[in-house]
Amino acid sequence: MNSRTIAKTSIGALAVAVIGVLAAWPAAAQPEGVEAATLDLARQPAQTGWATQDGGTSGGARATDDAIHVVDSRAELVKALGGDNATNADNDTPAIILVSGTIDLTEDDNGNPLTAEDFADPEYNWEAYVRAYDPATYGMEKEPEGPLEEARARSQKNQAAHTVINIGSNKTIFGLGGDAVVKNGTFNIDGVSNVIVRNIHFQDSYDLFPAWDGTDGDEGNWNSEYDLIQVRESDHVWIDHNTFTDGDRPDDREPEVFGRRVQHHDGAVDIVNGSNFVTVSWNHVQNHDKTHLIGSSDSRETDRGHLKVTLHHNFYENSSQRNPRVRYGQVHAFNNLYVNSGDTHYTHNYIFGLGVESAILSEANVFEMPASVPEAEMLSHYKGTVFRDEGSLFNGKPAKLLQAFKEANPDLQISEEIGWSPPYDYTIDPVEKVAELVRGGAGAGTLAK
Ligand code: CA
Ligand code: CA
Repeated sequence: MNSRTIAKTSIGALAVAVIGVLAAWPAAAQPEGVEAATLDLARQPAQTGWATQDGGTSGGARATDDAIHVVDSRAELVKALGGDNATNADNDTPAIILVSGTIDLTEDDNGNPLTAEDFADPEYNWEAYVRAYDPATYGMEKEPEGPLEEARARSQKNQAAHTVINIGSNKTIFGLGGDAVVKNGTFNIDGVSNVIVRNIHFQDSYDLFPAWDGTDGDEGNWNSEYDLIQVRESDHVWIDHNTFTDGDRPDDREPEVFGRRVQHHDGAVDIVNGSNFVTVSWNHVQNHDKTHLIGSSDSRETDRGHLKVTLHHNFYENSSQRNPRVRYGQVHAFNNLYVNSGDTHYTHNYIFGLGVESAILSEANVFEMPASVPEAEMLSHYKGTVFRDEGSLFNGKPAKLLQAFKEANPDLQISEEIGWSPPYDYTIDPVEKVAELVRGGAGAGTLAK
């Protein structure tokens, strides 16, 4: 069986073609030591999916010679993004930023990593926090409040000001070679347009000041702030060929406090608050709990008509939940590989979370799950009413995701009428080839070596 290409004629596709021509001319001078082929890759616009619509996504393709930067430290990254992390979101000058080696986002301008002690508010103390909000005395009825919670929040803000890196419009951030790493922080794409991030291993967006919430779920939860990449109130974003992990601090090394594991991580790539026209392709998410939140709140009715996201050829390996969890968005997931080994702390929870007014189209995805995980548990219900899958494989057999889910949940009414179809060109690889293709091609370091 050959690849199946679904071709559409659209203004968006024409616009992408035009941007492609612009991107190829005029050619900028090469930074020293950077191959022309690498620069060509760094100038590519988004190839398919929602990011190609409504004008397309070209990132920093139109960068002039002096706006192509090679960076190998947090300070250089912030400088290349405009100079001041607090205001860099407002810098919309087209730029290509090439990441060389490892950047630790906790490091100061002299390259020395800052620690919890550096970020902590003088009034904050972990032991005192745990004593103050112990459910045995504080109860489970309300979220922590008072001086210690306020001191925790101030500490968290201090960390965020340093480790959450704000990215302005018209930027491409591209990892050089096979070993570009960005760790201990967040790429924040917030309130901007036209951003591309490729070929980088993102590790460990570790929140040094997690918050207890006794009202979260039946048993309470420890929650953390930071995604590896956050896309918020932004449009036209392409996130391609990256790797996302918890680095040296996987969740299972943390203690349980109040009977719950202290969680220091949030999303891998979360896409929220009115964001739109996003493609997430050929990434490898490995050993992570909450992978993609698309839509942050049931009450955000302004998200209606937004949160259009395509996820394709991603390798989700021991990615417990939110693959993705969707509210409001029209989300297209095709040719992804979902694997859980069963012998991991990152046990399978669910793949697709059907949130309020979500409309997920799943096509030719592959699910490799332990024998203990039934097919019905590929879906999880959060007030959604529609879901459609075509041509997927569950443990080597034709998948019947919705049928299995409905049999396990006979009281739920879920229809296959998702009410939309992708308006862009895309090529579906034959489902029996997806596992090998995605294992071989997804993640950082496979695009440019
Ligand atoms: Ca470095
Ligand atoms: Ca998040």
